[in-house]
Amino acid sequence: MILDGKKLAETITKNIADEVSQIKEKITLALILVGKNPASQVYVHNKQKACAEVGINFEAYFLDENIPQKEVADIIEKCNANPDVHGILVQMPLPSHIDADAIINLIDPIKDVDGLTTINQGKLFTNQNPIVPATPKGVMTLLQRYFIDIAGKNAVVVGRSKLVGKPLAMLLLDKNATVTMAHSKTSNLKEVTKRADLLFVAVGSPKFITADMVKKDAVVVDVGINKVEGKLIGDVDFEGVKDFVSYITPVPKGVGPMTIASLLENIVDCYHRQKAIKDAN
Ligand code: NAP
Repeated sequence: MILDGKKLAETITKNIADEVSQIKEKITLALILVGKNPASQVYVHNKQKACAEVGINFEAYFLDENIPQKEVADIIEKCNANPDVHGILVQMPLPSHIDADAIINLIDPIKDVDGLTTINQGKLFTNQNPIVPATPKGVMTLLQRYFIDIAGKNAVVVGRSKLVGKPLAMLLLDKNATVTMAHSKTSNLKEVTKRADLLFVAVGSPKFITADMVKKDAVVVDVGINKVEGKLIGDVDFEGVKDFVSYITPVPKGVGPMTIASLLENIVDCYHRQKAIKDAN
């Protein structure tokens, strides 16, 4: 069965649009893009479009590739101090002359819609109401929507990035899965993935997971987005796998739309968190 991320994302987006329309204040996302990385430009365009669709204001900072770190830092500080900005997102990757961790950690954690600050990652690790990165959040929402059992299952996450693999493993652990994290140094990867009742793949290599690496009736979630000959394909060989697994996400129309919908949820969540503090004072 297909895990239809596109359809679920449309429902979530519609609900967010309804919610935003009832909020008197204008919710604003500030997005910082440094340079002209073509993939980043596409992602930013998609985020801008999604914000427009639900009535969230989008404040763009499109900056020169060679901008000094200090100037990026100044923009973040300005957005932190501005009560009319509710979410701040720095599009990754940043050029190599900029210390990405230092820049991310300047973001006020309550405006950190990507959940990438050390504070939010630490809160995720310790289960303290974090802002969860949008991709793993979207994956968990998708599993929930299809009533997929997680507790007691063997979950294997291939890929350990800060944005996807690590937070996803933590969320699965919180739902009582027995979690294995695999990465480029994992030996006998096939043996590891073959044991997975729930297999999550975030590697960034087209058709990396082949049929012989997947257990019958597994649930397969493909996070990968790879452009091959102008087409988007995932990290899983979808055609080779789809007929013997119980559930699988397609690429496109799987995790991608769920990421965008979850980002919108995070922006609205940040707005509510800030409002609660304002109202309490
Ligand atoms: P990343 O930061 O490049 O991380 C890739 C991970 O894959 C690393 O942990 C790496 O291991 C692991 N890996 C690389 N080669 C491997 C191998 N041969 N065997 C096992 N593991 C291997 O990537 P990311 O940001 O997590 O993104 C992963 C993919 O998801 C990309 O295609 C990206 O475009 C996509 N993505 C999609 C969405 C969406 O909305 N659908 C959102 C974010 C990302 P090491 O740590 O050992 O190097």
